Amino acid sequence: MDNYIVSARKYRPDSFDMVVGQDSITQTLRNSIKINQLAQAYLFCGPRGVGKTTCARIFAKTINCSNLNENYEACNECESCVAFNKLRSLNIHELDAASNNSVEDIRNLIDQVRIPPQLGSFSVYIIDEVHMLSSAAFNAFLKTLEEPPKHVIFILATTEKHKIIPTILSRCQIFDFNRISVEDIRSRLEYVAEQEGISADQDALHIIAQKADGAMRDALSIFDQIVSFSGKNITYDNTIHNLNVLDYDTYFKITKAFISGDYKTALLIFDDVLKRGFEAGYFISGLASHFRDLLICKDPGTVDLLEVGKKIKMEYLENSKICSVSFLFKAIDIANKTDFNYKLSQNKRLLIEIALLNICDIENKTLSNQSDSLLNNVKTEIPEKVENIKSQKDETKIIEETKSINTIAEQLPQTKEKESSNSVEKLNSESESKSFVKNFSIKDLAKDTNISTAGKSEESKSEYNNFGLDDFDKEKFEYVWTKYAESLRGNPRLYHFLTSHLPQEETKTKYTITVDSQAIKNKLDSFLMDTLKFMRQNLNNKEFELEYIVGENDNKKKFKTDEEKLQDMIQINPEIKKFKDQLNLDFE
Ligand SMILES: [Zn+2]
Repeated sequence: MDNYIVSARKYRPDSFDMVVGQDSITQTLRNSIKINQLAQAYLFCGPRGVGKTTCARIFAKTINCSNLNENYEACNECESCVAFNKLRSLNIHELDAASNNSVEDIRNLIDQVRIPPQLGSFSVYIIDEVHMLSSAAFNAFLKTLEEPPKHVIFILATTEKHKIIPTILSRCQIFDFNRISVEDIRSRLEYVAEQEGISADQDALHIIAQKADGAMRDALSIFDQIVSFSGKNITYDNTIHNLNVLDYDTYFKITKAFISGDYKTALLIFDDVLKRGFEAGYFISGLASHFRDLLICKDPGTVDLLEVGKKIKMEYLENSKICSVSFLFKAIDIANKTDFNYKLSQNKRLLIEIALLNICDIENKTLSNQSDSLLNNVKTEIPEKVENIKSQKDETKIIEETKSINTIAEQLPQTKEKESSNSVEKLNSESESKSFVKNFSIKDLAKDTNISTAGKSEESKSEYNNFGLDDFDKEKFEYVWTKYAESLRGNPRLYHFLTSHLPQEETKTKYTITVDSQAIKNKLDSFLMDTLKFMRQNLNNKEFELEYIVGENDNKKKFKTDEEKLQDMIQINPEIKKFKDQLNLDFE
């Protein structure tokens, strides 16, 4: 690749006509030159790589050209134009505010502003990434911007318009540059390929244009990358390979599998995608887009929204015929939700596989039993695991790692949210074990592998011997207790319970908590070992004991008879008794 000039530089537009995808902006700028209505400050906003600086340079060249043509484009022949094209014009000054954002940098610029141009009529100052100026620099600049010399035009460019202060905004004529459409980028790439004598598949150029995400500069550098990889013949295959783009064909194949309810093929295709090194999340978001593309092909009114090459478009139209609109709606929904949950999921592969099974299930009701049973297999594994954990706890009283505390603690809020009552007792209701299982998700399944086994219990017991026998006072105790409650904050009801039921000191190392019912005691006892471990460790006292006692809570005597209530009232205000006697009031 000797003498290969990077396309982005070589094919940088040098006239308004050549600018891609910003027609209304170039038209407005040309008009302002035509009617000689130039502003003294412009603000060019928009994403990177869409032509802001390019337009600023063309504008600077054009307003200094001594021989504009009939389209109000620079002649490229006069002394000024030649100087511009050789990048040695003294009428243009560029400052990259990203790297020169100090007051000093701006002062240097302001000093130059006073000097009138030697050639041509205007000195143009382009300040790129103007939002990066320090606030001191901004203020220093503001004075010049308020009253610039007549020969000066400022063009400020930014990717982040919202960071520009209003005082600047109000002094500038603002142009918003758009992302360039895939089709505009593709046709520009086609032109470049032609000029370079490179043969390129339409579909390959489409892929590059899509990948560039609206930025022409990026499109050209991707184009260069592919050329250096595959030479003068750019094909669809070497493009998707080079860019690590998942090919359309994979999606067409898997869609066929979905439609026929062939879940085995669907799972195998997904497996193959992973083996080819693609990330599962990339696959599922691509799948959602694929369904969307199929959906817009169902209606001639929306088919133009499809941004693919001609050959691929034909395939989309063909494949959309086998999908019903209702299938596509449901499939988009499933794919989109899965994409949404992907980041949170701890077993990403299983999450996507279940989504694929669900999509297989949409059209093919006859096969629904089959896939149901497959899903059930996944589910039935779960209760077994729960039972295992439970029995381990009961039989060996092992002390699990803090991780398992969290696993159990995390079950509780889910369980609770489903129940309507606020009572703590509900925690231990009969439905508990059921919802425990129901809420046991894939996430927890993955966690189970971390739960300690019976073999570890010896280890855990000896761990106790490492705790000391530090004295602790009530204050210290309360501090550690609160810390324990904090660690269960993810479970609001339990957190509330622990913070509102401070244990009573019985002996120096023994505390008790009075609870309202046996049910609550059972619940709390079920993770007493975890509680003790936390307390002993954090108090550094291995003899600390805690006991839950079922008893009447003084503050909350549950029921009082009317007579009792009356006695209470009389105690507060003896006049009530007189009042009752005088009026001869009685119950019933
Ligand atoms: Zn000229």
